[in-house]
Amino acid sequence: MALIVHKYGGTSMGSTERIKNVAKRVAKWHDAGHQIVVVPSAMSGETNRLLGLAKEIMAQPDPRELDMIASTGEQVSSALLSMALHAVGKEAVSYAGWQVAIKTDSAHTKARIASIDDAKVRADLDAGKIVIITGFQGVDELGNITTLGRGGSDTSAVAVAAAMKAQECLIYTDVDGVYTTDPRVVSDARRLKTVTFEEMLEMASLGSKVLQIRSVEFAGNYRMPTRVLSSLTDPLIPLEEEMNSGTLISFEEDTHMEQATITGIAFNRDEAKITVFGVPDKPGIAYQILGPIADANIEVDMIIQNQSVDGKTDFTFTVPRGEYAKAMQVLEGSVKEHISTGSIIGDPKVSKVSVVGVGMRSHVGIASQMFRTLSEESINIQMISTSEIKISVLIDEKYMELAVRSLHKAFGLESTEGN
Ligand code: ADP
Ligand code: ASP
Ligand code: MG
Repeated sequence: MALIVHKYGGTSMGSTERIKNVAKRVAKWHDAGHQIVVVPSAMSGETNRLLGLAKEIMAQPDPRELDMIASTGEQVSSALLSMALHAVGKEAVSYAGWQVAIKTDSAHTKARIASIDDAKVRADLDAGKIVIITGFQGVDELGNITTLGRGGSDTSAVAVAAAMKAQECLIYTDVDGVYTTDPRVVSDARRLKTVTFEEMLEMASLGSKVLQIRSVEFAGNYRMPTRVLSSLTDPLIPLEEEMNSGTLISFEEDTHMEQATITGIAFNRDEAKITVFGVPDKPGIAYQILGPIADANIEVDMIIQNQSVDGKTDFTFTVPRGEYAKAMQVLEGSVKEHISTGSIIGDPKVSKVSVVGVGMRSHVGIASQMFRTLSEESINIQMISTSEIKISVLIDEKYMELAVRSLHKAFGLESTEGN
């Protein structure tokens, strides 16, 4: 008998029919003698609908109130799943984050989990019940409901699994694993049987939304075996088959990984680029520009400072597209008050495409192959950044899908037999 945590995403919980299927699958695992904790997301589209209602009232609602509304989606799906389990003869109980409690900091809409008290959950499991815990939400020290950022149910699930020392965390979703790239963009993308934790961390941070980045951090920090698999198969397929399906995040670089130089291609459509022209080239200038941006809680990603000419230089950086307007306001306001600059020009229609692979450590020429492929498609590279296991380029968003497809092909990632 093992303790297993299941997480079901929005599509998997998307209708009462689908929820009944989830109940059948969960009941199958329970029948096999396992203790099961289930972490559901809101039904698909529901979180967007709730946040949309808020935006109809005002453009920038109070984040505390946004969390109050957004967290309700998971409460609904959790209770429906509990009922669906009762309907198939199982004892089940659902809890909101604050009831468990899943304690977080107070950073509304992007809170971080601080601790999980599992006493109540353990008691229920020991009494033979299936426990359902809402994904995406927690409670801060003052008792305010918080949410963990979009895609945060992944993080709830892995954090619960880690806190309870579960044997495995199974992330059920609408694809049957982690692919070389988003299978919705490249139809012959290949499913990976395993992906190293480091690669998954890079892919998630570079835009692969299949797992929220913080869930991968939790998996890594606690070495929690985590598997991404399909919720859309027949819920009654043999347990053995299901246990070995999907993609396992591994903590070792095994030998077959070494052969592949590139494991996957990630992309992020939601980037924006800002250039501040004609700033004086003297110590402290990067701080004077980026300090106020950081103070406004805006995350900066890529940065370039050009060679100076006549004591002046240009400074370019990227921010998430949703923060673009705010970043421009900060520059036109507090930054311009303190330093003299030329014009400030932004482009909110840029995307980032990245190739990722631990094999890069032992292979040279990956960057040149990437740049050659993009040049053959006449795609202009606006910025470049690298780490030990990834190379990212910023390009015009118009060419993003073309870039992903041609790189996928150039690095030989298409589906073939014998992965
Ligand atoms: P859920 O609602 O189950 O959390 P998400 O929509 O958050 O599902 O994540 C699953 C989606 O992630 C897939 O439908 C797929 O389009 C997308 N995705 C992006 N990159 C990848 C990748 N490398 N492998 C698999 N899926 C990916
Ligand atoms: N329902 C939340 C969202 O849509 C959390 C999740 O699905 O993981 O972002
Ligand atoms: Mg998700």
